[in-house]
Amino acid sequence: MKKNEPGMSTKALWAGEKEYLAFGATQVPVVHSVSYGYDDMEEWYEVAIGQKEGHIYGRNTNPTVSAFEEKLRILEGAEAATSFSTGMAAISNTLAAFLRPGSRVISIKDTYGGTNKIFTSFLPAQDIHVTLCETGDHESMISEIKKGCDLVYLETPTNPTVKITDVKRIAEAAGKAGVRTVVDNTFATPVNQNPLALGADLVIHSATKYLGGHADALGGVVCGNREDVEKIFHYREINGATMDPMAAYLILRGMKTLKLRIDRQNENAMAVAEFLKTVPFVEEVFYPGLPEHPGHRTALEQMRGFGGMLSFSVTGGVPAVQKLLPRLEYANRAANLGAVETVVGPTRTTSHVECTPEERAAMGIPESLIRYSAGIEDAEDLIKDLKQAFSALQA
Ligand SMILES: *Cc1c(COP(=O)(O)O)cnc(C)c1O
Repeated sequence: MKKNEPGMSTKALWAGEKEYLAFGATQVPVVHSVSYGYDDMEEWYEVAIGQKEGHIYGRNTNPTVSAFEEKLRILEGAEAATSFSTGMAAISNTLAAFLRPGSRVISIKDTYGGTNKIFTSFLPAQDIHVTLCETGDHESMISEIKKGCDLVYLETPTNPTVKITDVKRIAEAAGKAGVRTVVDNTFATPVNQNPLALGADLVIHSATKYLGGHADALGGVVCGNREDVEKIFHYREINGATMDPMAAYLILRGMKTLKLRIDRQNENAMAVAEFLKTVPFVEEVFYPGLPEHPGHRTALEQMRGFGGMLSFSVTGGVPAVQKLLPRLEYANRAANLGAVETVVGPTRTTSHVECTPEERAAMGIPESLIRYSAGIEDAEDLIKDLKQAFSALQA
């Protein structure tokens, strides 16, 4: 962050809204209009060909959606941003905008389930080659990049074992090879990490998670340099994966408290991770804030906070998980994450449901792994709740 620039809390509240306010309203309006009328034919033409600022048709742009894009653009320190109906639409449109038959992508084994499906099934079907490296093995990733590729795709921290990749190191190698580095920053949020400042070219978010923060709206966004973002935008406006204005409004409102929520979630996740380490039923705790986590040092360097996501495995396998989770009072047992309420789920049911037990084992995911998305509750209550749930295992 540059000197003289407001802090993250101030930006989360004020950034990007001013030019979208109307009628003296202090809040950005939800504009539900599908199209925008012009009495002046010349002006209409100028807006249509992009010579003049303005809106034409809702699939292309919308003022409420633009306000959301502008706020996130500022929080990520980017030149430009464009939004999508979901995080997966942001990812698939970005990949589609830069890849052609014969292209080669280098990524990691631990990407989000939907992204992994694109890498292992959709792209190969289009004759696009994908090499997935062991997450955290920077040496092998760099040697793959040196062999030649067209795009490097990262996600850090990852789902569900919160592995860390050194963005600076990989982006530098990609830059030397003349290719773009794309980073899915959903788990970290711009509060904890700004990939562009670490040398990445494009940063992607599922706005459905922490940005919105209230599990009531779907969305996605990509930020980066103007040329790249425009290319992705033109791809998206034709493919039609447009963010809905009501979703944009809900996410924009959620983002006002982004810094407050993330600070609290960082603290709660740390407190829960430390507590879990003291529980005899817990086999292993995965959290980059713990000194023994393999990515801890890199996380310390590139993140301002370790995030609200952690995972842990328990003794007793799946039956123990099935006994434990229903006992939790202050946790939704659901597939989402990054909400104000704590959310828990077995990895075998949520992010890696499409894998076989053998595939999960190969990825280092124990069958009894539980993903824990810390909410903004009081940490003492979360710990008390876990304690009483674990006492069921003792019985
Ligand atoms: C949820 C998620 C996505 C996909 O986002 P949707 O909004 O559900 O399409 C992508 N990446 C990560 C890391 C996610 O957690």
